[in-house]
Amino acid sequence: MKLGNLAGRAVIITDDGAVDIATASNGRFGPDPQSLFDDWAAFTQWATRPAGTAASLDPQLLGAPVPAPRQVFAIGLNYAEHAAEAGYPPDEMPVTFTKFPSSIVGQDHVVVLPEGHVDWEVELVVAIGRRAYEVTRENAWDHVAGLTIGQDLSERITQLRGSSPQFSLGKSFPGFGPTGPWLVTPDEFVDRDDLAIGCRLGDEQMQSSRTSMMLYDVPELLARLSAVCPLLPGDLIFSGTPAGIGNRRTPPRFLGADDILYSEIEGIGTLTTRFR
Ligand code: ZN
Repeated sequence: MKLGNLAGRAVIITDDGAVDIATASNGRFGPDPQSLFDDWAAFTQWATRPAGTAASLDPQLLGAPVPAPRQVFAIGLNYAEHAAEAGYPPDEMPVTFTKFPSSIVGQDHVVVLPEGHVDWEVELVVAIGRRAYEVTRENAWDHVAGLTIGQDLSERITQLRGSSPQFSLGKSFPGFGPTGPWLVTPDEFVDRDDLAIGCRLGDEQMQSSRTSMMLYDVPELLARLSAVCPLLPGDLIFSGTPAGIGNRRTPPRFLGADDILYSEIEGIGTLTTRFR
């Protein structure tokens, strides 16, 4: 199942368009997309039955599929090649920070560039469907509602300023957490642990890898994070970016006004982000 946020209303996206969940469920679920996570199990059970009629889907109206997570976890240096280009040895623990939830936006968002060096980081984003505390690798996927595409946009000067890096602040300017275009439930993937992931600036490929190259895969991230914090329904985890960021290019390259960034993950689609 593909779930979207169409102009602030939760929809199921089918081949024919978008089914409004509040209308189709007579108000039992939605319309707020975030409210689906209040009882994800009941929602997914309802959603297995035939839904209402689909209306046409205007992709311009798609917002963040998980618009108001209570917690947003983000993982740094989770692909060996990226850790190497960033100049860090792989760590014993996933490098964890937050993108403050006010940075979360959806498809086709126009990000107003702050002063500084704004860089791209395509990432697989995991949405939590069921409270996860001290989960094991083996049952970790049972707690996942779905997967979406994210950009961990990063202003490198703020991020790396000072004696102790400011990852959370440097990655939380308004619009710095594009997600979407929709949320895809794990059962839709042929192999949810091995998805092609990449991003393009216009026609130029900047990043290209597979999620199977993560140092800490999705089950391991849920196990490690939930050993410390309960992961709550509707939380997001940005799972780290592969090699190819702008900051480590020669010469470095950063996002400018009029750039269009296309982020792609196999089985999900393309997330478009614009800048000015
Ligand atoms: Zn990142």
